[in-house]
Amino acid sequence: MKKNNSILADTFGRAHTYLRISLIERCNLRCTYCMPEEGVLLSPKSSLMSYEEIYTIAKTFVDNGVTKIRLTGGEPLIRKDIPVILEKLASLPVELSITTNAVIVDKFIDTLKANGIQNINVSLDTLDKEKFKQITRRNDFEKVYNNILLLVKNGFNVKINTVLIKGFNDNEIIDLVQLTKKLPVTVRFIEFMPFDGNKWNMEKMISYKEIMKKLDDFHSEGLIERIEDAPNDTSKNYKIKGYKGSFAVISSVTNPFCDSCNRLRLTANGQLKNCLFSSTESDLLTTLRKGKSIEPIIQKAVKAKFKVRGGMDTLKKLQQPKLHSNNRSMITIGG
Ligand code: SAM
Ligand code: SF4
Repeated sequence: MKKNNSILADTFGRAHTYLRISLIERCNLRCTYCMPEEGVLLSPKSSLMSYEEIYTIAKTFVDNGVTKIRLTGGEPLIRKDIPVILEKLASLPVELSITTNAVIVDKFIDTLKANGIQNINVSLDTLDKEKFKQITRRNDFEKVYNNILLLVKNGFNVKINTVLIKGFNDNEIIDLVQLTKKLPVTVRFIEFMPFDGNKWNMEKMISYKEIMKKLDDFHSEGLIERIEDAPNDTSKNYKIKGYKGSFAVISSVTNPFCDSCNRLRLTANGQLKNCLFSSTESDLLTTLRKGKSIEPIIQKAVKAKFKVRGGMDTLKKLQQPKLHSNNRSMITIGG
């Protein structure tokens, strides 16, 4: 039963109804923009949430007004107990979805269906096998591409997440949008964001404006249509007239969508992050393990949420590496 959602309301009037749970810090790919080459310091196994703890924490959020849960990582599908986690969370009254690199998603089609999962976000940054190897440091392009086709064939709503990096894949924007001609998928271009250890700088980023310019220059006038964004959507959505799918841009750097943010994040070691960019965390797991209520901690964390990007409200602040060094690498936050 839902109580009033006041513990999930922040001081700017934003209600937080969407929880992203990172299930694991490890991954079977090693994308350069997501994690440093040398890897990240992993939490000891005893500090990671068990499936029972994930369920208990998730239920507390749901009891307080969360209606959507997305599972992420690291790579959520490489967690051994993923079937149990899906089953437990599917018993809650929420829309459950998952973000995956799709390398092994073919093994989970039935499990995903059985647990009512319809929306699957898949990372794919290039259509070129060699470039895939370069950006992910693994040789799995074909598996991922074929698994995207398999997901579509099985009726899942698929969104493809593409992080654009200047000089690497910005020449594929048109080709990636062409995928939507025959496939009913949404290709979402994500502005490259700064996190600890990912060697970000503003020059490597392709902005929303640049993406749209490339697409406008290529397509005849009137072919690109702006379509409606879903409530609290982080992306600006478009489609090419007559194409089966659509495309979108997530402009967290040049055009943040913080005003309508309804997201909270739980890391695999049970820390609540009130923003992707926040450098502080609130330890829910230790409190849960002591048998105490986690609600006061959740409330305090939500009330402490900054208005914009964890306090980095200007591009100038976003460009200061020291402001990211207290944040995690994306692989341990869960995008
Ligand atoms: N392994 C899964 C996957 O790749 O879909 C889930 C975890 S991954 C961290 C979630 C999303 O974060 C991916 O879509 C990835 O492209 C995005 N991401 C990672 N690092 C990023 C960065 N520096 N800037 C923008 N998006 C990033
Ligand atoms: Fe793994 Fe996803 Fe990060 Fe790539 S983006 S390293 S697939 S967690």
